[in-house]
Amino acid sequence: MSPQPGSARGDPSQEKSPQPGSARGDPSQEKSARPRSTSGSILAKGSQPAWRDDFPLVVDTDVVYLDNAATTQKPRSVLAAIETYYETANANVHRAAHRLSDEATRAFEAARGTVAKRVNAAPEEVIWTRGTTEGINLAAAAYAPTVLQPGDRVLVTELEHHSNIVPWQVACQRAGATLAAAKVTPAGELDLDDFEAKLDGRTRIVAVSHVSNALGTVNDIPWVVARAKSVGATTVVDGAQGPAHLDIDVQALGCDFYAFSGHKMYGPTGIGALFGRRELLEAMPPWQTGGEMIERVRIEETTYAPLPFKFEAGTPNIAGAIGLAAAVDYLESLDGEAIRAHEADLLAYASASLSQIEGLEVVGTARVKGPVLSFLLDGTHPHDVGALLDQQAIAVRTGHHCAMPLMDAFGIPGTVRASFGLYNSRADVDALTQAVRKVRSML
Ligand code: PLP
Repeated sequence: MSPQPGSARGDPSQEKSPQPGSARGDPSQEKSARPRSTSGSILAKGSQPAWRDDFPLVVDTDVVYLDNAATTQKPRSVLAAIETYYETANANVHRAAHRLSDEATRAFEAARGTVAKRVNAAPEEVIWTRGTTEGINLAAAAYAPTVLQPGDRVLVTELEHHSNIVPWQVACQRAGATLAAAKVTPAGELDLDDFEAKLDGRTRIVAVSHVSNALGTVNDIPWVVARAKSVGATTVVDGAQGPAHLDIDVQALGCDFYAFSGHKMYGPTGIGALFGRRELLEAMPPWQTGGEMIERVRIEETTYAPLPFKFEAGTPNIAGAIGLAAAVDYLESLDGEAIRAHEADLLAYASASLSQIEGLEVVGTARVKGPVLSFLLDGTHPHDVGALLDQQAIAVRTGHHCAMPLMDAFGIPGTVRASFGLYNSRADVDALTQAVRKVRSML
């Protein structure tokens, strides 16, 4: 019998993220008890956010870490939850009749419930994946063939990460469909007129990022969904850069699929989730096959497990799921409004400070942005700037940011990208500005 996400073997709706071994004094429980900040006020120049101390690597390193769009650092409570799981409850899930397996299953399914609640989905609609890339691949491989006919269209945008382009290219090639990309404006916003022009009656799927990793542009997903619905297209949102900075409510967004990664929202690598609307997931065939995703196997034929297990072949990343739920608990222990105000302040402060530097051009000036600042220094290659910043212990990302079509649209090889997390401060921005000034003087 296939395990049920709402069964007594681990009902996510009944428990708030119980941690394995919690009866034995789980350190993650202590840490997530941090009092909520009550003000959304901006920190004074040079002062550090209180929650910075929760991140051992950030506190212990002399590196100014400004590569949060690539991956975030992890709070102690996430590290503790993973360690506690392995120390007290490690066993395979959904299978054995023994106590440890039962405990691991409960923690694993409770983690699903925690993550589902965070994005306002039902637990059955949350499929564990390795991350955003795998989530989009799942939708492209299992959903797209059910709707794409020769001559149909999948619409993406020039803003997309390669993870939200290549899977659709392959799906289109297999179906004889075509891939179109809506243009971006010089500010790095989605060109709405071009989007509407390319959204024709043959468009079956619209795949758009929530927040651009390269420029920080926040797309108006409810608008995209409404337009897609008007031609009967299904919407897939690449949410890799969303949940670390925004409250995600898949019902309010209205999308059909939403893929995200744990490691970009203060959780571990190797775990993420794909939200899919129940009726779509139910109608889709499985993607990967094998153990865990079956109900009954005969040599002649197999029947599949119910949602969400139908899409989860093989032993899952149990510790990763528990770590991701701990990251969600951590984010919920903070004041979301205060975090957003803090990150918006960092972006505004960095934009103003860096813009003072002669020959520096900010790339991507959308009206609504996440905390990402891409820039170019005239006469220099982004990689050289990145290397010289690294020599000054400033960690930024340089290059095309896995968004080559976007760089092509801007006619540039890449950018230098500083991306902020909740533990960054104005002091970090000052260090960046000073270091870029030094690079400027060297080149
Ligand atoms: N989409 C966007 C917008 C991203 O920023 C990233 C990672 O940088 C991805 C997709 C892929 O995420 P992952 O590597 O976690 O699968």
